[in-house]
Amino acid sequence: MALEEYKRKRDFKKTPEPEGQIVKPKGRERFFCVQKHLASHLHYDFRLEHDGVLLSWAVPKGPSLDPKTKRLAMKVEDHPVAYGEFEGVIPEGYGAGIVMLWDRGTWAPEVEDVGAALKKGDLKFTLNGFKLKGSWVLVRTGGRYAGARGGGDRSWLLIKHRDDWAGELDITEFAPRSVKSDGDFEDILAEDAPAVWQTNRPAKGGDAGAMLAEIIERAAKLKADRATTKDTKVQPSRRTASGALPRRTTRNTQKSQRLQKKK
Ligand code: MN
Repeated sequence: MALEEYKRKRDFKKTPEPEGQIVKPKGRERFFCVQKHLASHLHYDFRLEHDGVLLSWAVPKGPSLDPKTKRLAMKVEDHPVAYGEFEGVIPEGYGAGIVMLWDRGTWAPEVEDVGAALKKGDLKFTLNGFKLKGSWVLVRTGGRYAGARGGGDRSWLLIKHRDDWAGELDITEFAPRSVKSDGDFEDILAEDAPAVWQTNRPAKGGDAGAMLAEIIERAAKLKADRATTKDTKVQPSRRTASGALPRRTTRNTQKSQRLQKKK
């Protein structure tokens, strides 16, 4: 395990993603996370901490709680452990787009030797996240995706085992927001610069392109609304019958009070 490929793909002067390092867990539980990533395509990056890095798979359709639904998971380069808390906007370069921390928690292997299980292409494990729980398996497949992107060994399936945490609920639809900020993509983008992709959007055509165009618009509106709220003076309706201000005022109202006193 190493982070060479991760580092080679990124210019840390241009991306807010952490440069990171190999971090061996010392007596704490293993971390896992799922990052919803709108780049050239929407996908879910599934990451399990092992041997000081985050083993990573890109799952185009996201995890399914239904044991009958096997989800394609493409093995991608290991990521630094610090990446597991990342949420934000990658303005350009590799992975350009919006990253949301969709789920996080701890995981435990259901096998003695994780290294051997990975080599064999069959890793059974238990998740304890906010959204994903219970028993799962990642199995490598040489199936129809083999060779398509340079070697069938990158292609795995993520499958839920039948237990109390399995079900037909579509978890990506039911719980679409961030576990870190509670925001959706537009909120994350509004925290940054919604105009970042005025030209050269990371996703242009197709579903992802349409989705991104909508998110950019909503984020710009959120940002504009916030700017107006900041400037808002105390509204007459917020005054009590006596004309005094209500005791419980918001921070913005208190600020406008101070501004008004200065006048
Ligand atoms: Mn990704």
